[in-house]
Amino acid sequence: MGGNSLGYRSSVERAVEVFRPVLRALHIREQEKHTTIRLAQFSQLELLDLDGWSISVRAIDLSEENCYGMFSVQIEPGNDKRVKCFIFIKKSLFDSLSDKEAGERIKIIGVHEFCHFLALLYAMTALSIDRARDILLARLKKKTDSLNKKDLEEFERVFVEKNFNEYYDLLGFNDAHYRLDCEGDSPNYQELFLYFLFSRELLETDFTKEKQKKFRDLVKSGRMKEAASLLSVSITKMVSEKWVKHEIAVHQVQKWLSVYVR
Ligand SMILES: [Zn+2]
Repeated sequence: MGGNSLGYRSSVERAVEVFRPVLRALHIREQEKHTTIRLAQFSQLELLDLDGWSISVRAIDLSEENCYGMFSVQIEPGNDKRVKCFIFIKKSLFDSLSDKEAGERIKIIGVHEFCHFLALLYAMTALSIDRARDILLARLKKKTDSLNKKDLEEFERVFVEKNFNEYYDLLGFNDAHYRLDCEGDSPNYQELFLYFLFSRELLETDFTKEKQKKFRDLVKSGRMKEAASLLSVSITKMVSEKWVKHEIAVHQVQKWLSVYVR
């Protein structure tokens, strides 16, 4: 581990570690902080040669009523090292940001579009042959993303009803939805999306090594209720700080339980 991009293709957790600083710098939920972020400022991305890239979030009046989020990209003609990426989020959602649900929605939309940005980044850093690059540019022209209201509501429903298996079939959120098919090795985008919403790294900012040890000891001595409540306090704290749906966090944490009791 450390401050470089090593492993960003092979592991979801490593990809989250490498790219979360970019996501954080976008301040998706805080409209007044939206600005253009240049990738040149991130030392861990130095080896990827992305200094001509930028990404920004904009809250705008999306003309189509049902459209909640969009991803779009401009590549300078004749210079594909200069790439401008845009995440657009429906402005009216920010007007009700005091509402917890609106905050969680903005987070989901922003992270969804951020995964489209990463698919592009994976593709552009994989391609070195001109012909392949032409294929990508042609594909991007057709595939600027728009996330509609119905897809988002479907996603929320699955998590509230805890039909997690159904989630893996949701067309607007599965791996193929993001995939450009020329990015070489990359993590599964569907997983990546969930990790950006709630990662182990995030949980462990509160569920520290000491708490993990306490949790393990409680489990080993059969005091399950106390163990569960210790973990649950950390989840609830991080969920409200980071505007994540509680159900999504719990779904994520189940993946790491075996590590915490080991
Ligand atoms: Zn999409």
